[in-house]
Amino acid sequence: MKIETRAVHAGRRPDPATSAVTPPIHMSTTFERGADGEYPLGFGYSREENPNRVMLEQCLASVEGGTEALVFSSGQAVSTALIQGLEPGDHVLAPNDVYYCWKKIFAEIFPKWDFAVDYVDMTDPAAVRAALRPNTRLIWIETPSNPLLKITPLAAIAEVARKANAITVCDSTFGTPVLQHPLDLGIDMVVHSTTKYIGGHSDVVGGVLITRHQNYLFERARKSQRFGGLVPSPLDCWLTLRGVSTLPWRVRGHCENAMRIARFLAQHPGVEAVHYPGLESHPGHQTACQQMEAFGGMMSFQVKGCKDTAMGVAARVRIFTRATSLGGPHSFIEHRASIEGPKTKTPPNLLRMSIGLENAGDLIDDLDQALKSP
Ligand SMILES: *Cc1c(COP(=O)(O)O)cnc(C)c1O
Repeated sequence: MKIETRAVHAGRRPDPATSAVTPPIHMSTTFERGADGEYPLGFGYSREENPNRVMLEQCLASVEGGTEALVFSSGQAVSTALIQGLEPGDHVLAPNDVYYCWKKIFAEIFPKWDFAVDYVDMTDPAAVRAALRPNTRLIWIETPSNPLLKITPLAAIAEVARKANAITVCDSTFGTPVLQHPLDLGIDMVVHSTTKYIGGHSDVVGGVLITRHQNYLFERARKSQRFGGLVPSPLDCWLTLRGVSTLPWRVRGHCENAMRIARFLAQHPGVEAVHYPGLESHPGHQTACQQMEAFGGMMSFQVKGCKDTAMGVAARVRIFTRATSLGGPHSFIEHRASIEGPKTKTPPNLLRMSIGLENAGDLIDDLDQALKSP
């Protein structure tokens, strides 16, 4: 079955108690044992397993094309669980432009565990191979990346990792399960911040880990989820699952709008550079054409000028919302360097946008008026 069908049906069936087509929200924290002491339907206590969570996990495993999924209370909770599964002293490779809060986990939570982390140019398989050590256990990938939308060649990095016996995890949040299929290209596990496109409505925080095969890091993450308690609430699971139903169609709309806006910005005299993998000028365009079905709803651009010029554009938008995050119906714009703090390498004249589901012409008109100097 194709993804549109799996997005609507996987993990669900009409509620056996009421025939309700839309699943009820199971708020109960606990479930009755049978007279024999067993749990007849497998549910005992909601931290360990909850019906809404199971539905979401089965659906997301199917939509991503993996064997099993675990959902967490946020995207960062997935990363924390995976990192907790490593042994002290293990070596980890991550992209030099990895999601900024990912670095904070190593820098501010785990320094006592003595992990060795190297940040490399993940788009270059030779650089990754050169950075391997005998104790490299995890290779973390994020593609497309933030905020320059760099594209990592997934099959090539999977091959480097396989030879080194390291586990690969791809943060596919920008790519969505619709546009790229890392597991089919040999990546071991996929992570999404479901807060973004999968939930899709900017109203629920969550994360998911999906695996292609059994492995020790997945099993340890399962323990962090169930016993460590990194779980999403039943309502969070319900909202996220509702979002998944329309994911493939929403993503199509985001991509169409983004392509039109990227082309508009690329020819605009007030714009210095546009970073969107759908543009032929983007350094990752060829790789994106090979491994993505379309180019997503995220882009960034640099205005001609300085930080103040960029802030001025962000100040003048009327339809775009000045907000962080992405993947919802509203278009967002943000001055990324301000979010990432003083150590960031993000150019000061760069604005990042999550292109929403409004009319593309309206969004273009909005950017056009915002780009005119007052
Ligand atoms: C938002 C985001 C995260 C973190 O997810 P949360 O749900 O906010 O914890 C991780 N990776 C990427 C690429 C993101 O955009």
